[in-house]
Amino acid sequence: MPSVKEIVQTMEYGVAPEANAEVLRWLDARESFGHFIGGAFVPGADGESFAVENPATGEVLAHCAQGTEADVDAAVQAARRAFPAWSGLPGHARARYLYALARLLQKRERFFSVLETMDNGKPIRESRDIDIPLVVRHFYHHAGWAELVESEFPGKGPVGVCGQIVPWNFPLLMLAWKVAPALAAGNTVVLKPAEFTPLTALAFAGLCQEAGLPDGVVNIVTGDGETGALIVRHPDVDKIAFTGSTEVGRMIREASAGSGKKLSLELGGKSPFIVFDDADLDSAVEGVVDAIWFNQGQVCCAGSRLLVQESVAARFVEKLKARAEKLRVGDPLDKSTDIGAIVADVQLQRINALVDEGRGDGVDCWQSSAPLPNNGSYFPPTLFTGVSPASKLAQEEIFGPVLVVMTFRTPDEATMLANNSRYGLAASVWSENINVAMDLAAGLKAGVVWVNCTNMFDAAAGFGGYRESGFGREGGREGLHEYLAGKPAKPARKPLFPKPDFSAAPAARTAGSAADNTIPALDRTAKLYIGGKQVRPDAGASYAVRTADGSLVSQAGLGNRKDIRNAVEAANKATGWGGNAGHNRAQVLFYLAENLEARAAEFAARIAHLTGSGQEEAIEEVHLSVQRLSYYAAFADKYDGRVHATRARHVTLAMNEPWGTVGVCCPDDSPLLGFVSMIAPLIAMGNRCVAVPSQVHPLVATDFYQVLDTSDVPGGALNIITGEREALARVLAEHHDVSALWYCGTPEGAAAVEKASSGNLKATWALDQTAIDWRDPAQGAGREFLRRATQVKNIWVPYGE
Ligand code: NAD
Repeated sequence: MPSVKEIVQTMEYGVAPEANAEVLRWLDARESFGHFIGGAFVPGADGESFAVENPATGEVLAHCAQGTEADVDAAVQAARRAFPAWSGLPGHARARYLYALARLLQKRERFFSVLETMDNGKPIRESRDIDIPLVVRHFYHHAGWAELVESEFPGKGPVGVCGQIVPWNFPLLMLAWKVAPALAAGNTVVLKPAEFTPLTALAFAGLCQEAGLPDGVVNIVTGDGETGALIVRHPDVDKIAFTGSTEVGRMIREASAGSGKKLSLELGGKSPFIVFDDADLDSAVEGVVDAIWFNQGQVCCAGSRLLVQESVAARFVEKLKARAEKLRVGDPLDKSTDIGAIVADVQLQRINALVDEGRGDGVDCWQSSAPLPNNGSYFPPTLFTGVSPASKLAQEEIFGPVLVVMTFRTPDEATMLANNSRYGLAASVWSENINVAMDLAAGLKAGVVWVNCTNMFDAAAGFGGYRESGFGREGGREGLHEYLAGKPAKPARKPLFPKPDFSAAPAARTAGSAADNTIPALDRTAKLYIGGKQVRPDAGASYAVRTADGSLVSQAGLGNRKDIRNAVEAANKATGWGGNAGHNRAQVLFYLAENLEARAAEFAARIAHLTGSGQEEAIEEVHLSVQRLSYYAAFADKYDGRVHATRARHVTLAMNEPWGTVGVCCPDDSPLLGFVSMIAPLIAMGNRCVAVPSQVHPLVATDFYQVLDTSDVPGGALNIITGEREALARVLAEHHDVSALWYCGTPEGAAAVEKASSGNLKATWALDQTAIDWRDPAQGAGREFLRRATQVKNIWVPYGE
């Protein structure tokens, strides 16, 4: 080990290994793994197993069962048995399971990253910063789809039992891409991980148990291609989702043809990476590094064909070699390793064979001089120049860190060369000229095109290929279609809400009584909530809050014009909220739902006491509020804009944008549900709110402050001013820094608000509080709320010279 002095002199990286003790303990405790069938780990039917190795060291990590016909059949039967109950659950209940899985994965991110790296050989930097966070994001996103699938896909229902087969290059991520949407839509699954990398899938099975997922909803059978073929052939499987090589994809197409099974295929690629002479060349170099040397080039959408405009080709290739020379090849568990191990020795031999075959007349093969470890399967960054577009090197998927470089002169030639492939998975275009970049994007035969970037993935965007790269999409709305069939979902059972524990609920505050000598509870005057803090009303005034039978409960702050002004100022400062990604806003809303549910008993007791409703009704109001928060959390990253079909050679992007600061005046009744139903869609879309809660029952909203404080809602995103609704509505209507106003109250109040809003011509939405039943999702929730919470901006981008 070098001394500190030597390190300072050479500025060499020190070793920075990630600790793997927890994973080793986990492996030691399980010498051999069985399948995960019907909610339990079971040994393989015939006792056959195969060894799983760490490709960086060659050591055996575990033995896994080789799935036989009997195993596959048991798994399919378990999935079939689980299907009716799982598909019959309300989407909200399935969302809770997916949410729990996301949370459990998030809590074990480090464990899964290390296990993935040991099993697959990918650098820990990638499993830690890319694979596992994307897995978590996928489960969160699809928790949202579970919530929305019935309303967003009317007339459709789950397909049934899905057989899912995944490759080894992103083992857990490919599992997430398959399992999360399938479960969200109400399907049950039998998944087979790749034989080189089954371990994270088996660890995931443990999380399914921990999350209390009903038995048989997820089944995992390990084994090789033969086990995969058994799943494909099984007569009781309704859908096959396959990711892997084009060769196997073709066999699966043939095997399933005419069987009535729904099929999606995510196959191989030979994706072009196109650099124009006006591109930011240094950024493009980083892009190439990411495109072909990420995950040792074992990426279906790897930018493995570099097409550079002739005038800058020599300069670009020199820059690229200089950069590639700096990539560190070595121990994948070392945090400063760029290139880890190739997944298995057979794969290494395949790369070697293709590279050796590619060397020849006029072809130049450059390889980085990075020292390779003595043990394990490693291959250096490699770059071929002088390659003919028709050669095997330029046409065949090598699935390793091998780049071929070709040149072009004109955009048309670039398009022609790029499309000169049987594949069509992805493409990356680099030019500072938006016209040229968009023109190319439109002409490329690829399912994904990245402009001035590469390898961008998100659970909200569909991913999949054209041509021999397969069909069907994974991710987002497009991906969900793959798991839905044209049959309506069975009517969902009425949700069974968890019963709150009333023993933990604080006693409702009682007034003192001279008759029986009880002393009154401590006086509590609820304050206002501005900029994330509880503040006294400006006028120092308050008003009496009474129960339905007229007895005095407490005082609430009487907000005035100045309080509204302060709240609007706080809201206008909280601009960061709208700038957050939808995913982050969803997280906060889910967290609000979670924290509200944790206090369900307390809120229900408060509502029952204040409104005089029965306890059952109050409990329902709290749980519907929780559900509504999850519903809009689900939409936070799914209320997409559109691309309009306008003129030729144009994209017209219709973007949904938040208004900014929105005033919200809530109905008197349903003090929690009415309030939540109005603020949640606005907040989900990125607005900041100044809300006036129920004037009659304001204490439910003031109790909500504590829920807000514990749920990461940034100060200023939601401000609450109690007081006289009509007076405060008028101030909000007149305020020039309030962009829109939602009012739910009386028809006279609505007329006054509309008139007073004319100053800055703010958009208003008036609802009659006597005409709306907030408990009914058809009236109290839905896309109309989201539409009203946003305004559309159309962006026209013409392209082509
Ligand atoms: P592969 O096709 O050999 O194996 C993929 C999976 O299919 C494995 O689980 C394997 O056991 C199983 N399998 C093999 N033969 C089978 C058969 N006859 N019937 C059913 N299942 C069978 O591919 P691989 O080598 O594991 O993965 C690399 C390939 O995957 C590359 O071609 C890559 O481009 C592709 N890939 C595509 C995407 C995408 O989204 N388009 C993503 C990742 C990988």
